[in-house]
Amino acid sequence: MKKTTIILSTLLITLLSCKQTTQGKSNVQQAGVATSTSPKTEIDSLTVKKHLYTLASDEMQGRKPGTEGMEKATQYIENEYKRIGLKTFKDLNNYRQNFVHEGVEMSNIIGVLEGKSKKDEFVIVSAHHDHLGMKKEGEGDLIFNGANDDASGVVGVLALAEYYAKKGNNERSIVFACFTAEEIGLVGSNYFGKDINPEKFVAGINLELIGKEPKTGPKTAWLTGFDRSDFGKIIQKNLKGTGYKLFPDPYTKFNLFFRSDNASLAKLGVPSHTFSTTSIDTDKHYHKVSDEAETLSIKVLTETVKAVAKGTESIIKGTDTPTRIKLTE
Ligand SMILES: [Zn+2]
Repeated sequence: MKKTTIILSTLLITLLSCKQTTQGKSNVQQAGVATSTSPKTEIDSLTVKKHLYTLASDEMQGRKPGTEGMEKATQYIENEYKRIGLKTFKDLNNYRQNFVHEGVEMSNIIGVLEGKSKKDEFVIVSAHHDHLGMKKEGEGDLIFNGANDDASGVVGVLALAEYYAKKGNNERSIVFACFTAEEIGLVGSNYFGKDINPEKFVAGINLELIGKEPKTGPKTAWLTGFDRSDFGKIIQKNLKGTGYKLFPDPYTKFNLFFRSDNASLAKLGVPSHTFSTTSIDTDKHYHKVSDEAETLSIKVLTETVKAVAKGTESIIKGTDTPTRIKLTE
C-alpha cells in the first residue's frame, strides 16, 4: 500500500478507539450480569475487528516466516495468549515452538487451557499465522496482507481462547495453535504432529478463510473432509436451532482437506477438519495483495466464530468424541 504512514496512524487511532469502546462495553456488560445469562463470555465483534486489523495491517509485511513483520505478528499473538491466561504446551518454556526449516528460524505459537476433569484429552483449535510476505518489486501495493488467509482463522483462535478461558468449564484440555509456514507446505503443523501422541488428541478444529459469506448463504460455513469422521455431524447436531448451518465442503475437486493444517493431524488419525466460509472458486482476492481486512465481513467472521464455539461445545465438554480418521489415500 502506498500511503503507509497515514494508514498506520489511522489504524492506530482506530485500534485505540476500538480498545476504549471494548473496555467501555465490557464494563456495561459486567454491570448487567444479573439480567443476562453469561454476557462476559460473548465473542464480540469489536475484539474480532481489532485482532483482524492488527494481524492484516501493512506493518506485519505479509507475515512471512523469518521476517520482522512475522516477529510482530508473533508478539501480538503471544501477548494475547498471555492476557487471556493460557499456559505453555508440554515442556516448552514459552508459547513458541521453535524450529529451523530450510535455514529459516520459525515458530508455531501454542497455548493451553487445561481441562477440568479430562486433562489428558486434547482438543486442538488452530489456524496459520503465516502468509506470503511481500512482492520483491513493482508499483503500488506490494504487501500480501492475508486478511482472509489466514488472519481470519487466527482471529478465531484468539477469540475462542478468550471465550473458553472466561467460561472456565472445559472438561477437556484445549490446545490453541497458530501454525507457521502453512503456505509453503503445512510445515509448522507437520512439525507439531511429530512431537505429539496423536491418541491423546480427540479432535482438531482448524479455521481457514472464515471472513466472507459463502455461496451456501448467510449464517453458513462448510467443513472439509465431512465424511471422513462424524465430527461434522456432531457440529450439525449442536447447531440445531441456532439458525447457523454447517455444510460439507462443496469444492471436493480442490482437495482442500489435504491443503490446510488439519491434514497434518488427520494423517495421524485425529479427526481434524477445516471450517471455511469463502467461495474460493470465485474469490478474487485469494493469494492476492488485495486480500485486505476491508474486504472481509466482521459480521460473518464474528458469527462464524460463535457458531464454532457452539458447534464444538459437546466435544470440549467431553460428552461427544468424534470417530477417528483412517486415510487410505
Ligand atoms: Zn490459508
